[in-house]
Amino acid sequence: MKKLIYCSQCSKKNSFSQIDGEIRYHCSHCNTIHYQNPKPTATLICMKNDEILLVKRAFEPAKGEWSLPGGFIELGETPEDAAKRELKEETNLEGEAIKLIGSCSHFNSIFGDVLLLGLTMKIEKWDNLIPGDDAQDAKLFKLNDSPEMAFECHNKILSIYKKSLTKLSL
Ligand SMILES: [Zn+2]
Repeated sequence: MKKLIYCSQCSKKNSFSQIDGEIRYHCSHCNTIHYQNPKPTATLICMKNDEILLVKRAFEPAKGEWSLPGGFIELGETPEDAAKRELKEETNLEGEAIKLIGSCSHFNSIFGDVLLLGLTMKIEKWDNLIPGDDAQDAKLFKLNDSPEMAFECHNKILSIYKKSLTKLSL
């Protein structure tokens, strides 16, 4: 959680104690409660037949490790908008979000509290695959033989996806 030492409304010092059901930052001078929420990300499952698209991270955290494409949802974007934009930025591919398959919460990460939304994507043309500025590499791996990923939540979203496949084939 981010430390909110001063009140953003009146600049007096905040308290950090029980209020409205939780321990939160709040200001006893102007009575503002400073609610904090996780940052949502779009985390992408992009399949080409039995292969999945992964990107090798160009920056910390986890520089040089593989992860699912994706990133933070910007103000004014839906998860689907963010998915489309991040896909283009990281891999140069055009695609559409198909389905929200599940989520994973990661607390106290380097970015603070993060809420990952897993979305499956439909890619029209794979020929355009080029790693973007955020990625050292972008590559397809066999779904059943993909590397361990940088973030536990990416492994979890991938396993949610794999489980959804098993359910479909029953
Ligand atoms: Zn205040």
